[in-house]
Amino acid sequence: MKCQNPSCGHEQKTYELVFPLTLPIPTKSDVSLKDCLKLYTKEKLSTDPWYCDECNEVVDLSRKVEMWKMPQVLMVYLKRFCLKRGIHTKINDHVQFDFM
Ligand SMILES: [Zn+2]
Repeated sequence: MKCQNPSCGHEQKTYELVFPLTLPIPTKSDVSLKDCLKLYTKEKLSTDPWYCDECNEVVDLSRKVEMWKMPQVLMVYLKRFCLKRGIHTKINDHVQFDFM
């Protein structure tokens, strides 16, 4: 997590065992598993307010997932359902497994 106060920029790291990975599917053509991993690890702004211990303010924060140790066998799920206008919709896009 990173404080979005421009004069602060404090970062807080937490370590979690995440297995299997649940990857989002980007909305574009010719989607590959790498594209899903890139979207999963992309820095995202959080909508939850966060109290930063460094600048002592309630601030916006960003979250970014980084993987620093991969298992020998990687198991992934693809998030094939999303909520569009209050209705669960299945994403039927083909995802190419491009790094086997
Ligand atoms: Zn801060």
